[in-house]
Amino acid sequence: MRPGRKAHKPVIFTPHEECGVFGIYGHPEASNLAYLGLHGLQHRGQEGAGICTSDGKQLHVEKAIGLVSDNFTEKRLKRLPGYAAIGHNRYSTAGVSAMKNVQPIVVNFSLGSMAIAHNGNLINADQLRILLEDEGAIFQSSSDSEVIVHLTAHSRGESIHQRIISALNQVRGAYSLLILLEKELIAVRDPFGVRPLSIGEHDGAYVVASETCAFDLIGAKYIRDIDPGEMVIINEKGVQSVRALNSTQKAQCIFEFIYFSRPDSNIFGGINVNKVRKDLGRQLAREAGIDADLVIPVPDSGMPAAIGYSEESGIPFDLGLIRNHYVGRTFIEPKQSIRHFGVKLKLNPVRDLLEGKRIIAVDDSIVRGTTSKKIVKMLREGGAKEVHMRISSPRTIGPCFYGIDTPTRQELIASSHLTEEIRKYMTADSLAYLSIEGLQSVVPDPDNYCYACFNNFYPISFPDERLHQMELFSA
Ligand code: 5GP
Ligand code: SF4
Ligand code: MG
Repeated sequence: MRPGRKAHKPVIFTPHEECGVFGIYGHPEASNLAYLGLHGLQHRGQEGAGICTSDGKQLHVEKAIGLVSDNFTEKRLKRLPGYAAIGHNRYSTAGVSAMKNVQPIVVNFSLGSMAIAHNGNLINADQLRILLEDEGAIFQSSSDSEVIVHLTAHSRGESIHQRIISALNQVRGAYSLLILLEKELIAVRDPFGVRPLSIGEHDGAYVVASETCAFDLIGAKYIRDIDPGEMVIINEKGVQSVRALNSTQKAQCIFEFIYFSRPDSNIFGGINVNKVRKDLGRQLAREAGIDADLVIPVPDSGMPAAIGYSEESGIPFDLGLIRNHYVGRTFIEPKQSIRHFGVKLKLNPVRDLLEGKRIIAVDDSIVRGTTSKKIVKMLREGGAKEVHMRISSPRTIGPCFYGIDTPTRQELIASSHLTEEIRKYMTADSLAYLSIEGLQSVVPDPDNYCYACFNNFYPISFPDERLHQMELFSA
């Protein structure tokens, strides 16, 4: 450590970023298509968005806080000329929601300009950052993705590809990464393949995206997934695949299937998300069936699982809760006399359906437990005679360190409460979760997934395992 330098407290709790990335190479309308691609990936992050294009000579970048469609006007897209582009949607609760953390990150260094867009979370970013700062690196943002940029700039190696590989050999964690150079688009997936990343083709151009729903929007054809540890280089010569990083074990995020990805996407080898969610609901009905009159989804995330549950159990399905999709910020504060105003803005029970019925309400997951508690109360006020909560994933007992924004272990209700205690808290007549074995029975090759938030087995080991153990046992 340099003299006079403030001691850094080593932390493993770097920002947990949920993000979407999109890239295109070889199309005259690259920025417009990147805009559409990001629009299709908006569910993966709403805090900020950015697009960087290349015209073959230089990079152009535009970034904004907020939604893609609110910010990327025609005028703005005109300022992004070129035939190649990468874009990024960002969602992050940790750190400041400042423009400087919106990606792509663009830098100039000895080999030219480089822009990167990163989906995932690095678990040794803080340690690397301290080392890099000691060597004189100046960081523009608090994003862990910037570590990759500095490591690339600092590493030796004749080609940019060698430098990127050397940088990625030093980082640990989850990354689906897009890198734009003046004449090239590079896509890399971490050796564990935690986050999805697919490559497709559109109008003779190549496209890369976090999820295939972005391909559908622009009419692109899915080719294949980028493999864990693979680097795909796209330039005027075509597509080149490099086995860049040694991949011995896959740890694809099972939560992408449960909640995060869009149901119309096919991920992790072309498996349809909606199908998996329905199968989770079917399995849940087999494991935790109960006599009832009606199955309803908790909108919108519980929808496919509720359909599966209904199909398997033979209990009719209906929409007992209606969601208002136009909830933004509310500027008026109602008087106390309007109870549960916040929830009612978003959801309303359909009394005609619920009155006097025994209801099974299906949701995808319980995090803090507050949503389910409100749902149970709302269904009872809507006339339900009994409310049975069914959850299409196992008990969430651990935070995610690989890029999904979950709260701390202490805030996860199942980390410190038995299922019966949670049932009492939410005042449901019964509560059941899907088993881990049940979850594993639904996906092909179940060994290729990460289930850490459900079983505390973290497949990518931590740089300081003691800190992790402290976190684990402080709940
Ligand atoms: P809770 O109220 O228990 O904290 O949250 C449960 C609800 O949050 C569920 O309806 C689930 O769909 C949703 N949920 C689960 N994981 C996430 C996430 O990572 N981000 C967001 N925004 N919602 C989530
Ligand atoms: Fe996904 Fe959970 Fe693993 Fe995070 S801990 S990568 S959310 S399965
Ligand atoms: Mg939900």
